[in-house]
Amino acid sequence: MAHAPRPGQPPRAKRSLGQNFLIDPNAQLRIVEALNATAADEVMEIGPGQGALTRHLAERAGRLVLVELDDELARRLTEEFAGNPAVRVIHRDVLQVPLEEVSADPARLKVIGNIPYNITTPILFGLLERRPRPREIVLMVQKEVADRILADPGNKTYGALAVGVRSVADAERVMNVGRKSFRPVPDVESSVIRIVPHDPPRVTPEDERSLRHLTRAAFGQRRKQFQRILRDAYGLSVDQVAALGGELGMNLQDRPESFSPERFVDLARALRARTAKPPDSAPEEPVE
Ligand code: SAM
Repeated sequence: MAHAPRPGQPPRAKRSLGQNFLIDPNAQLRIVEALNATAADEVMEIGPGQGALTRHLAERAGRLVLVELDDELARRLTEEFAGNPAVRVIHRDVLQVPLEEVSADPARLKVIGNIPYNITTPILFGLLERRPRPREIVLMVQKEVADRILADPGNKTYGALAVGVRSVADAERVMNVGRKSFRPVPDVESSVIRIVPHDPPRVTPEDERSLRHLTRAAFGQRRKQFQRILRDAYGLSVDQVAALGGELGMNLQDRPESFSPERFVDLARALRARTAKPPDSAPEEPVE
């Protein structure tokens, strides 16, 4: 049976909840500063934990909503901020909390978090595959995931994650954070990334759906030429694919990984106009 921690003693970190607490004060401050929250802003913090970022955020943001799943940590945060009407604690799984519950105006929301790495993809796409998207997102993620989000076309780590994020937002690395900045020390290196969704959005919701299908089909079989994937997944003929390539000025003999997120959007748009049905091989599921 688990023993309750003594009052004042920090609870034991739970691996199952991805609890690696950020203990480096310098890194704590730099992450918060990357969000640039002001008294005019509403901020949501995902996984506030023991409050490493929270205390800095509470000093800056006009409103702060903390979403924490851990019973003991949520209780402590509720207690600590009980006297501050600008801070609200939601004791729930962030994946089950719609942004409409966090803010009356999700388009104005800024989101920050040193998040549990095992749910990075659902968190990210939960924020990006919706309308309206939050105004700005600053997240600590596994360095390898940041590398994939920021990879250039042609790079071997370039794929569905890069296209999915960068077709709807600008993304940049704020900094890398070494393992020793956390307790307990994790097995992986980390990076802080800043994601700013395009405002207004550049892609319609229908074209975004088409893009998701295309991306899954494309990177599910990344060693194939794009023309082959389009024939197999969309049932297009050789002539139709050639016409599509000509129309868009794209050499579809190349592999998917050589095309930028913008070119993926162009192709998804053209495919939607051309094909009534989505490809057979592209179920709706989160990008890994
Ligand atoms: N922000 C703190 C820090 O920087 O030290 C804690 C970061 S720790 C990596 C991740 C936090 O997310 C933990 O507090 C954990 O309890 C919380 N958490 C884990 N799964 C969660 C979920 N599904 N919803 C909300 N919070 C979650």
